[in-house]
Amino acid sequence: MFQKILIANRGEIALRILRTCREMGIRAVVAHSTADADSLPVRQADGSICIGPAEARSSYLNVPAIISAAAITDSEAIHPGYGLLSENPAFAEICRACGITFIGPSPEAIRLMGDKAQARQMAKQAGAPVVPGSKGPLDSLEQAQALADEIGYPVIVKAAAGGGGRGMRIVREPDMLARAFTTCQAEAVAAFGSSELYLEKFIEEARHVEVQVLGDRSGIRVHLGERDCSVQRRHQKLLEESPAPALSRETRAGLCKAALAVANAVNYVSAGTVEFLVDRSGRFYFIEMNTRIQVEHPVTELVTGVDLVAEQLRIANRERLDVDVTLTGHAVEVRLYAEDPRSFLPQAGRLERLRLPHGIRVDAGVEEGDEVGVAYDPMIAKLIAHGPTRDEAFARLHDALAETEVAGVVTNLPFLRWLVSHPAVLAGRTTTAFLTDFPPLAEPPLRLPTGPWDGAWRLNLPSPPPHSPPDVDEAARGSRSGDGAEQSALTAPMPGTVIRVLAKEGDRVEHRQPLLVLEAMKMETPVVSPYEAVVRSVHVAEGDRVAGGAVLVELEE
Ligand code: ADP
Repeated sequence: MFQKILIANRGEIALRILRTCREMGIRAVVAHSTADADSLPVRQADGSICIGPAEARSSYLNVPAIISAAAITDSEAIHPGYGLLSENPAFAEICRACGITFIGPSPEAIRLMGDKAQARQMAKQAGAPVVPGSKGPLDSLEQAQALADEIGYPVIVKAAAGGGGRGMRIVREPDMLARAFTTCQAEAVAAFGSSELYLEKFIEEARHVEVQVLGDRSGIRVHLGERDCSVQRRHQKLLEESPAPALSRETRAGLCKAALAVANAVNYVSAGTVEFLVDRSGRFYFIEMNTRIQVEHPVTELVTGVDLVAEQLRIANRERLDVDVTLTGHAVEVRLYAEDPRSFLPQAGRLERLRLPHGIRVDAGVEEGDEVGVAYDPMIAKLIAHGPTRDEAFARLHDALAETEVAGVVTNLPFLRWLVSHPAVLAGRTTTAFLTDFPPLAEPPLRLPTGPWDGAWRLNLPSPPPHSPPDVDEAARGSRSGDGAEQSALTAPMPGTVIRVLAKEGDRVEHRQPLLVLEAMKMETPVVSPYEAVVRSVHVAEGDRVAGGAVLVELEE
């Protein structure tokens, strides 16, 4: 086994990998940015090395710095965690060329699955059903229109290089396709550096069910059952469980078989996840394969007893896969985020108090007293409960959330408590439309009179964040400048990409009317008019990347 590895990641996943390294007697060095110099993973690692400034582009995504860090610290292998460089085929290739083991699949498999249009074709050839849609990337809007007419609306336009729920648009009417095509393309270029799009039939009220697979170099491949991740906001998962509720024996067997067929088709090595949508009639369709360890992997670990990170390490060390997969009980996970539950804006601050629950699995990235910054993903912890039955697992998670306390930073804790008590969730009747069907606003428990819950909160609808960092509040209010007090400039609360422009020069806008939507930190953040005004000028276009503080729109009262 390796003597020493480098962890090129941060937060909870860095700690998660560290834990297994410790159990296996492997020394682990954490590569970190200057912002994370005093982070919990750095404090707990056997060694640490700084790879650059806070901005991920210059540190966690800085390939030369990471390769040098591995060389300097005598690390034989690199674990990329999830996100960051984990699905970057060039990085995996460079590791290989430098004689450092990349703990993950081959660059070829990463590249193939990273092009989602190509992955669809691959899956189809392997015998897995795919969502009706384009054969390869779309050449033109006309081609998209013809295809959409053929398969029927609604359709979903997706970036071939997309991920994290970004770069996709649902189109319900033919005359909305052109606009979706352009905005999606602009977003894809800005976020993923590729304008390639493809199109699929939009499956209404689908369940997202994914299959965990493991493969070794000798060609042994197994599946470790499925996870249901249907509860999502903006195509991002919020609650995950295993086994999936309400799947027939045949559907489950079909899904697992199709997942293995896809993994075999790309000679998949390491841990990976094959994702499907299951429609109301129980038919399933491949959507993509994730070639890394996933955020929600602990639910599978709790029901199978297999340590997926340990398996990744053994497989990377060229050992033969030898796991006994027996599913026991039920597991459910929720993600505790530092975010305003109303606007979904990430929150920053010091965790004055952090009481995480006992008696269930908690994968945290921070402890009490730590700072939560806005530079990275605002996840505080994952709470994962296991029980002999589904009801028992949910009851344990419910109690655990009641025991959880966070002060100093606004979190989605009230939302999670609401979620795990919801009758539709408890009955296992959730689909990807859950939060649209049951907006939290309509539910009594969320009608709290004070704090972040006062006023209206609706999914995807903007309203200025009441408990946001000072600079965000300032932007929402607008900083007045120019002649007298009549003019004001709205600035970007944080660096991001403009994904929608909703106002144009000369428009009369209402108080709180959304003017544009900025995407930052994987979240869509509406920028709203602070008062009734006329739009004097719009300084940005869809797809533009903007710096924090950049002037977006000028208004005249
Ligand atoms: P990403 O790589 O960004 O996570 P996916 O292709 O995995 O993108 O899709 C993420 C989510 O978007 C799915 O779980 C589902 O909720 C929704 N989605 C994607 N494709 C479709 C589709 N064809 N029909 C309905 N929903 C879809």
